[in-house]
Amino acid sequence: MTFAVARARDEAHLYLDLHPCKQCGSAETTWGRGVVSVQGELADRYAGTCDGCGAEREFLFGLPERPAPPVGYPTFGGREPSQLLDAGEWLWVADLTASNVPAGDRAEAHRVLSVAGAAVEEVIKFIPPGQDEVPDDGFWSERGLRMREVEPGRFQLDRLLVVRDTYRDLVARYA
Ligand SMILES: [Zn+2]
Repeated sequence: MTFAVARARDEAHLYLDLHPCKQCGSAETTWGRGVVSVQGELADRYAGTCDGCGAEREFLFGLPERPAPPVGYPTFGGREPSQLLDAGEWLWVADLTASNVPAGDRAEAHRVLSVAGAAVEEVIKFIPPGQDEVPDDGFWSERGLRMREVEPGRFQLDRLLVVRDTYRDLVARYA
């Protein structure tokens, strides 16, 4: 049995936030984390009790070959593309995050914009060298496929680079 790899803690937690409790819809869970062996394979296990309804919740992720060294918040992973969120979901995360930049709280604005910028970087990681847009296999989730359907042009490299640079500038302005 092979689990989708969580490249870094921040990526695992984002994934957990995007997958709320199936019973009550709450995403609030205090997660404990540990490495477990599942049928001879090591996995990264997140488990906890749902704050909303008390259900026991558990997610298992594969371990990365080389863990991404944390380089500030957020560190979603190394250079390899995500296995947990597809390119469309990453852009969705960037949009959602950037639409919630708090006014009058510079530290929080910096944090939020850093997440949005890092999410766009994650979209770009799906584009193989020499190609100019995210290939078909960069989309597998319902939400991600819908993002591409609505505006496929947003997954072109040149447009993504402009967006990434815009976030970088904004992050620097709030630093
Ligand atoms: Zn629940």
